[in-house]
Amino acid sequence: MNRNKNENKKRITAIVSLAVFIFAGLSAAAVIFITDTRTDYAVSASLDTESMTLQTVTAVNYKNDTGATLNEIKFNLYANAFREGAAVKPYFESDLKISFPDGMNYGEATVKSVRSGGNALSYSVNGKDKNVLTVALGKPLKNRLSAKIEIACDLRLPKTNMRLGYYGGIINLTNFFPSVCVFENGAFTECLYLPTGDPFYSETADFKVELRTDGDYKVAHSGDLKSEKTENGGKIFKFEGKKIRDFALVLSESFVVKTVKSGGVTLKYFAEAGSGAENAETKLAATESALNFFGDYYFKYPYKTYCVAETYLAAGGMEYPNLSLISRDLKEADKDTVIVHETAHQWWYGIIGNDNLNYAWMDEGLAEFSVELYFAKNGRTLKANEYRHFNLRESRRFDEIIRDLGGSPVMEKYLGDFVSNYEYVAVTYSRGHLLFADVYETLGDENFRKAMRYYAKKNKYRIARKNDMLDAFNKYADGDMRTLFGEWTNFSKKY
Ligand SMILES: [Zn+2]
Repeated sequence: MNRNKNENKKRITAIVSLAVFIFAGLSAAAVIFITDTRTDYAVSASLDTESMTLQTVTAVNYKNDTGATLNEIKFNLYANAFREGAAVKPYFESDLKISFPDGMNYGEATVKSVRSGGNALSYSVNGKDKNVLTVALGKPLKNRLSAKIEIACDLRLPKTNMRLGYYGGIINLTNFFPSVCVFENGAFTECLYLPTGDPFYSETADFKVELRTDGDYKVAHSGDLKSEKTENGGKIFKFEGKKIRDFALVLSESFVVKTVKSGGVTLKYFAEAGSGAENAETKLAATESALNFFGDYYFKYPYKTYCVAETYLAAGGMEYPNLSLISRDLKEADKDTVIVHETAHQWWYGIIGNDNLNYAWMDEGLAEFSVELYFAKNGRTLKANEYRHFNLRESRRFDEIIRDLGGSPVMEKYLGDFVSNYEYVAVTYSRGHLLFADVYETLGDENFRKAMRYYAKKNKYRIARKNDMLDAFNKYADGDMRTLFGEWTNFSKKY
């Protein structure tokens, strides 16, 4: 975290405090003593494809386990980053043509009301760039008590092939409802939808999601599908997901869905007729192979469903709980690799979270190394070696450029401090891959595997810190792995 960010946070807090002071006392949120600490979300979303809008009502049962008494709860309002005039945009200006193939198009998130127990609560949309919804609780919420809040929010979807939006008949619904900010170090962590990496940060929660569509849509989803029915030419889907840290959907009327049940998990592969559907069986088999391998090598996949959807996506792939998005425009061979990478994220990001904003290498590096491991352990040594060498080459090339420019790079920094996507990828993916390959070779296969299982046992469904990871490796290492990690992260490593 950099100094500027902290200064901004202080200023924002001052503004927010003033707003809360003005509106306090309107009404108090209902409170109940809590027994478990996961937030419950009940999201009701209604899609209108004429206007490309999504009406959402998000009922949140927030359980205060922060240790502090709260006067307000903050939510990330990611979707608002797509609005016209946003200062922080989810895309680089240099990628405008790639992100908006049919020209510039904006979205927006408009909060309509915030209520609790039928009473209106005061709120404001603020943060550094209208990226945060701050809800004043009316009455202080003590530790171990919960508050129920209902947020009505209308979304205008942008026409784009990014993570949220519609393009060519496919609708990507990700980060489409207000999501509780992680509370740590005495404050809510506000996420800006930066163009670099995955600027999303959340704790695991329980979700119930109802989606109404106005057409005959097939839907790739987080959680499990509980029911699906046709009504007035549209459909009503009900989903449920427990202990997952986000909830996302991908919709298309022209999806062909291939399904297989494997080891108690229902796997579904979604691709459009005429684009990918002809290879869907093969891709479903690749998905099954990856999910089973990681489940066996690391630890069992604890959910009942896993979906992969081929969609319009400027990035090659993107992970969500129980759901991976794969760009339909990738070459077939690259799709296989991206499926393995995104599937590895089900473990590293999904089941075991990390601070994506400041320690992106923890999940990206591990996902990249997991790709090599998967190919190496599945009789594809050449592909495994090629993958390692690709990242070795990329990392060395970046090191040379930095040396020529006289820069002093570090691996651990805030997403917003990477000067380019090139730097971000070289450092977190390529160098991250090499770090974990070094750890693997230092520990040996058996101890690496034991360490990963221990890491999982201690951090399942939580946000793991670097020290949690080091503790796990140190438990099975001969020496202190801190030195090895340090050399990679501070760029002193010779390789
Ligand atoms: Zn990744």
